[in-house]
Amino acid sequence: MTSQLPDWPPSFTQEQTSHLLLLATTYALGHGFTLLPLHTPQTGPVPTLSIPAPLSLCPSPFPKDLYELAVKIQPAYNALYVNVTRDWVFLDKVMGGVVSKVDEFQGELWRAWKSCREELIQPLHLGLFRSDYLLHSSASDPSTPLELKQVEFNTISSSFGALSQLAGDLHRYLALSTNYFQASPFLINPDPSHFPPNDALKALVQGLADGWKAYGSKQARVLFVVQEGERNVFDQRWLEWELLEKHGIKVVRQTFKDLSIVPSLASDDSSRRLFLPDPLSSTSDPIEIAVIYYRAGYTPTDYTSAADWTTRIALERSRAIKCPSLALQLAGAKKVQQVLSEPGMVERYLPSFQGWTDEDAEGLRRTFTTLYPMDDESELGRHAQKLALESPEGYVLKPQREGGGNNIYRTDIPPFLRDLAAQPLAPGEPPKKEGYILMSLIEPPLGLKNLLVKGGQAEVKEGEVVSELGVYGVVLFDEAETRVNRGAGTLLRTKGRESDEGGVAVGYSVVDSPVLV
Ligand code: ADP
Ligand code: MG
Ligand code: MG
Repeated sequence: MTSQLPDWPPSFTQEQTSHLLLLATTYALGHGFTLLPLHTPQTGPVPTLSIPAPLSLCPSPFPKDLYELAVKIQPAYNALYVNVTRDWVFLDKVMGGVVSKVDEFQGELWRAWKSCREELIQPLHLGLFRSDYLLHSSASDPSTPLELKQVEFNTISSSFGALSQLAGDLHRYLALSTNYFQASPFLINPDPSHFPPNDALKALVQGLADGWKAYGSKQARVLFVVQEGERNVFDQRWLEWELLEKHGIKVVRQTFKDLSIVPSLASDDSSRRLFLPDPLSSTSDPIEIAVIYYRAGYTPTDYTSAADWTTRIALERSRAIKCPSLALQLAGAKKVQQVLSEPGMVERYLPSFQGWTDEDAEGLRRTFTTLYPMDDESELGRHAQKLALESPEGYVLKPQREGGGNNIYRTDIPPFLRDLAAQPLAPGEPPKKEGYILMSLIEPPLGLKNLLVKGGQAEVKEGEVVSELGVYGVVLFDEAETRVNRGAGTLLRTKGRESDEGGVAVGYSVVDSPVLV
């Protein structure tokens, strides 16, 4: 296994950096590797400007063996979360218990699921997943091999598939169109052994198309549920364009607000087929929805009122296939990740009757870092609290949230926990800390550099960087049968070492691509 990463990036002159920046930003703008700007001019709903998405001027070295390992284990991770989603008793225990009482958002999700799960009419669930990893190097002994460690597993709104595919194209173009990388032996010839092919866009869209096909109605469309004011629209539009061009499937984009009519629509149709009015049609023919793909609904602010929850439940009750269903979204909670790290759990959810082996379970386990509950009842929970208060430097405290910017790091943990403990509780309410998990910090290797371009500004940020690898997965399954289980490409995001968080959309990291070493 790899223990050393090469000196990186090659040293460029000021002129070369400026030239690469020009090539990269024009390529980005020309190929839809873009975001909407932060402040859109007041020209109405039609955008007239885009900016390059945050990017790195160079691809980042990533150990070939660990990249291949991450790709190889994705089907087992997919199966793990499929089997968890099927286990209502487990989800009730883990998410419906203390977590739903101390975490209002998870409580809403769980209660929404519970309110409708007995009468759901669509047995199929569609998952577009992303399992995220950092490289871990032992600080005490830097000569030990690097390891692949999982940060989290996303079951909703796994974004950047399209932009990640484009980032690989961008870096290949920079390497082919200049001779600036020639000092580096592995970039002279950008062949697949160093630039792994990445078809994330195609593979994610194939998953949506599989769901659409399973629904079985030629006229039906895919509904994208999107956030108001979303800036990362091109990553989503690429999926739309690919669905139409390669599969002949039309998409309709709606916010929760747009969909507020759904509860009244769904109630008087016993077939539960979801029909939306077509705003663009001259006739009054409504549009049937085959698949509901959520790029919203993963964070509390996406639900602005009780009406939005009513809409979510009405969508769940419809015959359309949900990507993800409420159960699948709950399975992606960080609390579930922590419970799955307890002894015997991976084995339980990778059963041999489905063809999984001890080696498969062991393969996943090796990517786990230490995860702890934060309760007073278990020995593990009490131990975690001692660690969090007395030696917080090696830990991150995580709430049940998605989208970046929510974690508490290192020495911020003790005062945060003290503040939590000081908050008044309703009678019978469990302590707030139980809505969190404690995770040991993964320690990425030192000494890696790249040139990061952010904010659509022609500003290059140099410095120590950390790269997070995401592996996409696609599943389509019901209670008994898994119809689809595939890997679906990768994403590399790179951030300055000074930033603890990693979301591209929240402005901390850039879209990168791996060069395998
Ligand atoms: P979210 O669902 O909000 O993306 P994550 O668990 O991915 O939450 O945490 C956000 C970021 O925090 C990650 O992208 C990573 O950069 C950093 N992070 C999370 N867990 C760890 C960890 N155990 N060690 C080091 N960094 C971490
Ligand atoms: Mg997440
Ligand atoms: Mg994350």
